[in-house]
Amino acid sequence: MSIRTIENRACVAYGIKDVRHVNMPVSYSSEEQILVRVARGGICGSDIHYYQHARAGMSILKNPLVLGHEFIGVIQAVPPASSLKVGQRVAVNPSQPCNRCALCLEGKQNVCRSMKFMGSAQFNPHVDGGFCEYVAVSEAQCVPYADHASDQVMVFAEPLAVAIHAVHQAGDLVGKNVLITGAGPIGCLVIAAALNAGAAQVIATDMSPRCRELALQMGASMTVDPSDEAATASWAENGGYFDVCFEASGAPSAIASTASFTRPKGTVVQLGMGHNTVEMPLGLLLVKEIKLVGSFRFVDEFTTSVRWLESGRIDPLPLLSAEFAQGAVVEALELAGDKSLAAKVQLVFA
Ligand code: ZN
Repeated sequence: MSIRTIENRACVAYGIKDVRHVNMPVSYSSEEQILVRVARGGICGSDIHYYQHARAGMSILKNPLVLGHEFIGVIQAVPPASSLKVGQRVAVNPSQPCNRCALCLEGKQNVCRSMKFMGSAQFNPHVDGGFCEYVAVSEAQCVPYADHASDQVMVFAEPLAVAIHAVHQAGDLVGKNVLITGAGPIGCLVIAAALNAGAAQVIATDMSPRCRELALQMGASMTVDPSDEAATASWAENGGYFDVCFEASGAPSAIASTASFTRPKGTVVQLGMGHNTVEMPLGLLLVKEIKLVGSFRFVDEFTTSVRWLESGRIDPLPLLSAEFAQGAVVEALELAGDKSLAAKVQLVFA
């Protein structure tokens, strides 16, 4: 096997409030791997958590970790007989399932117990991410897209795939009344994905006026401050108003409210993380036969996401708050971590 090593600069998390832009040569197999020159990355909640707390959920930072699982780039080198070409622009799927376990073989790679998701400290050694100049990935991770599509748009491929998977988890949305609780970047992308999947109406809630404004720009027909009980009271009448609720906030009060707001036989899709233990009115779930469904990452939805963005079917740009050069990763993380100021913050690699 021919291993090559090249110079590389990477955005690396070392600990709490300790992210550095450092030299970190990258090695790759020129016979097996695709070398991608990263063009742009999107900062996600988990990157912010690693920066602020040196952990994201149950994944604890034990060694330095290259951040980033939302990134796109240009192919720099391909192995012999690859169907990909040097110079091709690609969205990189950060999922690296084992492709051997029963779940993978059933097409459920997103719940593979051995998933090596890029930019994650879930396993030791950690799996480095894509916030660097060069990254070596497998051919299966690369989804090429047309030259006319903009980097700013295409780097939403990963979070939009999360949103499309959530819509997939909900089942048929045609003609349905849909509620999204939590209008951060993921909640807002679920709004657009649900409308694309045929939802008749999408309403969003968020405490933040800024997020509510973004929800309207992403297609919500109405937004509500969830603390305004007068505004939400009617949603719980007559057994509930919404056919489907996507819970994208992770806030305990929002999670509990979905049981009231969802109609009998309706579906609640849980997307928001943050609190592992919350109170849920199980009696309501039971007597209304509400389906409570988790949603985690994505499988084939990544390719769908690339196509929807490439074709302009979904415009994510209202969610883009700011962009920074890679060397300003700390400033970018600070801004991205302030939800009163920013939705999606992107890093530009050059
Ligand atoms: Zn597997």
